[in-house]
Order: sequence, then structure tokens, then C-alpha cells
Amino acid sequence: MKNGRFDAPGLSVIPKNLSCDVQEVIGGARVVMQSPPQSAVFKPFHVMTKPIGAICNLDCRYCYYLAKKELYPGDHFRIREGVLEAYLRQVIEAQPPGEVTIAWQGGEPTLMGLEFFRHAVDLAERYRRPDQHLTHTLQTNATLLTDEWAQFLKDRDFLVGISIDGPAPLHDVYRVDKQGNASWHKVMRGMQYLQHHAVRFNVLCTVHSVNADRPLEVYRFFRDECGARFVQFIPIVEQRDEGARVSERSVTGDQWGRFLVAVFDEWVRNDVGEVFVQMFDTALAAWLHLPAAMCIFAETCGRAVALEHNGDVYSCDHFVDPQHRLGNIMEIPLTEMVASSQQQRFGEAKRDTLPRYCIECDVRFACNGECPKNRFLKTPDGEGGLNYLCAGYKMFFHHIDGSMRIMADLLRQERSPAEIMDIFARADRNKPCPCGSGRKAKKCHGR
Ligand code: SF4
Ligand code: SF4
Repeated sequence: MKNGRFDAPGLSVIPKNLSCDVQEVIGGARVVMQSPPQSAVFKPFHVMTKPIGAICNLDCRYCYYLAKKELYPGDHFRIREGVLEAYLRQVIEAQPPGEVTIAWQGGEPTLMGLEFFRHAVDLAERYRRPDQHLTHTLQTNATLLTDEWAQFLKDRDFLVGISIDGPAPLHDVYRVDKQGNASWHKVMRGMQYLQHHAVRFNVLCTVHSVNADRPLEVYRFFRDECGARFVQFIPIVEQRDEGARVSERSVTGDQWGRFLVAVFDEWVRNDVGEVFVQMFDTALAAWLHLPAAMCIFAETCGRAVALEHNGDVYSCDHFVDPQHRLGNIMEIPLTEMVASSQQQRFGEAKRDTLPRYCIECDVRFACNGECPKNRFLKTPDGEGGLNYLCAGYKMFFHHIDGSMRIMADLLRQERSPAEIMDIFARADRNKPCPCGSGRKAKKCHGR
């Protein structure tokens, strides 16, 4: 997938086609930024489009977006034809030849109905230049998908991001409907429709205080029971009262670090080249000194804006508020808003507000202080602006350092990073056999 914020082009370990984005398919979406040929100063950007605003059929307890409907009291929350037309025309015109990603999100975008999407896809085709190929992505809770939806998504080659937090007991803790009922079975039904029609899909899993302690159960469920090949993990961090307190649903830094370490250890021994975990792809890019593939790990950000149903454009999906409104596409061209000094300042603040503790950190090249929305702790010497998840990131990036060096070396030698699995298999044979015999693995089950 192209044109977004999550790819690290040129890595053989990274699939060419998809992944997710935070809340974007793909989550948002794995999006590769492209440069248009016309102008050397053009910088690519990504738009998360919310045709139905914050409206959703679920009531996930940690959802940060549901409350955004209060920005538009009394609104009917459906994108108007004129706004749809202006958005598609502007976003397609702004992109260079090649693949152009159109990212649909919410709220729950499928509430717009199938006919809306049939129309939107046809309309987008009208604006497509002959040298472009459009890829539509859809981030959905999957509960409303039907056989007909799946057929359409297959016919139009959508890339679908499914929001799911693991097996039923872990998913249903917080992902419930308006009546508080569990949603997992409906999600799985939707996923089965997609599988039946061979629709490309990712899973997007939020990691919260409950599933964070079950990393292997979550990962193996996606890999073995969902057949997912592209997985994105997003930590739940809900700050309370502008201070250092968080909700009971939030992961702790340590939990987040342990979760990532456990999943990584499983992946690096078994699944390299078969399962693509966005965060691991992105880390490998950092070890190869390539530009950060996810905005949260980039030095600066600001090239991924959110588009509300009425045409309002905001600096970022996580900053949809009056202070971060850049304007409306019916009044100001999208490209102008993305290039505005307000948006430039927003993106550069990610780098310019880093505390000294981060600047001097040995894993800053991979972390870059993560997302500014999570920077509400004080450093050990009392400076503000430290990321709430810092302890987890330090743990994770230190833990994977050796493996990342090996995979980066393999890639530099034009070999497959999947070879690391053999290296681990040989090394693990000298460890005690997991069967508990007390013998080394190479003299027991590892023979
Ligand atoms: S604030 Fe910046 S780093 Fe955080 S999600 Fe938005 S664009 Fe990404
Ligand atoms: S690991 Fe912590 S100190 Fe290092 S860059 Fe990330 S947030 Fe800053």
C-alpha cells in the first residue's frame, strides 16, 4: 500500500502490499509516502477520512473518537456529496503517479452503507489519472459486514483493517455495543465473510490493561486462528485530568514493554517473513537507518491529517479539536492546509519538545519520544514531556537490539532476514530443553 505513514520501502522483510495504520488500516494503514514528480518540494501526505464522523454502532470503552461528535452538535453526520467530491478530487490530484491510497475510517464507516461506498469508489475512479492506481482501505469493527459487503470489498480490491483485541474473553472486556453486549462473535462472523471471499485484511489490536498480560495468547490467536498475516498493536493510554494519572484500562509502560518483548520472541523464532507485525517492520527500518515508517517513531510528524464528515481537516486523528482545526476543504485546498505553517509547527514540535532525557537516550533513533499525545510524565531530573510508555520502549528496543542487528546485516548482504530463525534455532539448542528434562535442547527434543 502506498501513501501513508507506515511503510519502510525497500525492505524485503516488509510486504509490499499492506499493513495497518493506527486507527488506520489499516489501521489505518500502512502507507508509503510517495514523491510526486512535479515538484521537488512536495511532501506526501495521508488523509484519514471519516464519512460518518464519530458515529459507531459499538461503544468500546477506550474509544477516544466517540466523544468527537460533541464537536458537531445537532449534526446528521454523513458526508455530503459536495464534500465527498471535493475530498476525492483534491486528494487524488495531489498524488503522484502510481498507487494512491484512499483511507476510510470512523466511527464505523460501514454505517454509511454499501451504496455509499459503491458510489465513492466510482467517483474516485473519475478523478484518477491514467498513471494512477487507487487502493481503498477500510478500518472497521467488522460487526456489520455481510456476504454482500465482502463480495464488494473483493471486487474493488479493498484492504480491510479489522479491530479485534484477541480471543473473546480479552476482546469483550472493552469492545461492547451500546447495550454493553459482547461484540466478538459478530467480529469473527465479519472476518469469516472476508476470508470466504479472499479479501485482504489486517488485524488492529489495541493493547490494554487486560490483554497486555496475555501476549502469546493474543498473537497466536491472530496468527493461528484468524490466519492474519499483518498485525498492528496499539497501546491504550488514557490520560486523566491533564496529569500523570491514567484510566484503569490503560497499559503500564512495563506491561507494554513485556507484551512487545514476548510477541517479538515468538515472531523472531517462527514467523519472520510470514507474519508482518508493523512495529517490528518499523524497528528494522530504524536499525537500517531508513526513515521511520510510523509517524509515532519519526523525528517529526504532521503529514497525516484527519478529515471529518463536513470537510473539516485536523492536524492528526489524535488531535481532532478546535485548536488543531486547519480549515475546511470547501474553503481551503487540502494541500494548502497540510503545508500550512500551523501544521508545520505541529509536526516539528514532536522533535523540538523532546526532553533532554530523550535526546540523550541510546534508543532515540528508533523511538524519538513516540507520540506527543503520550508525553505527560516527568523525566528523572524533573523535566516535563517524557512519554508515559518510555519504560516499555526502553525495554523493548534494548531487547531486540541483537536481533535487529542480525536482520539488518542479513538485508545488507541481500539475504533474507528470515534466516535469523535458523540462527535462533541453533542457539536455542544449547539451552535447557523446554520439555523440562534438564538436558540441553540439542541433546533432547532439539536433536
Ligand atoms: S501526533 Fe504525530 S506522532 Fe502522534 S499520531 Fe499524530 S501524527 Fe502521529
Ligand atoms: S525510550 Fe524513553 S527516553 Fe528513549 S526516546 Fe523513547 S521515550 Fe525518550
